[in-house]
Amino acid sequence: MNDQELQTLVEKISQESFAKPFKHRAYFNSRLRTTGGRYHVASHDIDINPKMLTEHSMEILVGVIKHELCHYHLHLAGYSGKHNTLAFKRLLKTVGGSRFAPAPVDKRPFKYVCTHCGQTYRRKRRIDTHKYVCGKCRGKLKLDTGDD
Ligand SMILES: [Zn+2]
Ligand SMILES: [Zn+2]
Repeated sequence: MNDQELQTLVEKISQESFAKPFKHRAYFNSRLRTTGGRYHVASHDIDINPKMLTEHSMEILVGVIKHELCHYHLHLAGYSGKHNTLAFKRLLKTVGGSRFAPAPVDKRPFKYVCTHCGQTYRRKRRIDTHKYVCGKCRGKLKLDTGDD
């Protein structure tokens, strides 16, 4: 999806879920790391973390767009649009926006699970399970080959 397609999607969601037009710019910003998107109070633009789509899904992306559109429409209607306001919480619930951006996907390929307490660990490399034990309970670790 490119910026123009994102723009079209945001305009569509704005009409369908908020019954109001989105008249500013929406674009991807790959520098965003911990947030799924941002609403800019000064310019009224919305930027979106491309990982919402590349590492997550269309459903997650739409949830993040709805979240940012709540800030947008409340702000333009004269509200503060901050997360802790009743107006924000109500509107977010009404349109089904996401409350938080999903956590970044952990790319470390090796997952170990403690056979005693179930604690999981992620590592970039294989570890020697005869040498290393669970940091929580000192139980034996085993490589977990299942999907997350
Ligand atoms: Zn927000
Ligand atoms: Zn353990």
